[in-house]
Amino acid sequence: MLRKSKVILVSHCVLNQNSVVHPLARSSGPFKTIVEMLMEYDFGIVQLSCPEILMYGMNRLPMTKSEYDTPDYKALCKELAERDFELIKRFWDGEIAVAGIIGIDQSPSCSQVNDEGHFMAALNQYEIISGLHRIDIPESYEVNSPSADAFHEQFNLWLSHL
Ligand code: SF4
Repeated sequence: MLRKSKVILVSHCVLNQNSVVHPLARSSGPFKTIVEMLMEYDFGIVQLSCPEILMYGMNRLPMTKSEYDTPDYKALCKELAERDFELIKRFWDGEIAVAGIIGIDQSPSCSQVNDEGHFMAALNQYEIISGLHRIDIPESYEVNSPSADAFHEQFNLWLSHL
């Protein structure tokens, strides 16, 4: 039995910076070091949906949380949260521990700790998810920068307690 039986939920763009608003990408692909650290701890990685790309596509402009605060966008977040939750629940029911969730600080959709984004609010309607350990990638995070190094230390500590 090779399974570690632990998964971690990650905002879509942690694994794919192509999904963020064009000028705001902070790496050329995934946040590599973050992914490597998750691999180091043998977590299965569950990539959450990206509601912004599904709503406004690749050429969208940056928007604030209040600009995203529309019935259509919140309905999409609810629908995607339901779909993602179905998958997460399958793991949970199969006795795979859902250890934590990684969001994006200051995102109108995927921020968790400082200001809850619309998509995280929809996901947190589910008890399994609202009780998870959580951390956000800081706004200042950019690959190969001192701010990334500082966050990696904090992230490693967070992972070691899951
Ligand atoms: S923060 Fe959320 S909505 Fe925004 S690009 Fe990343 S995954 Fe998509």
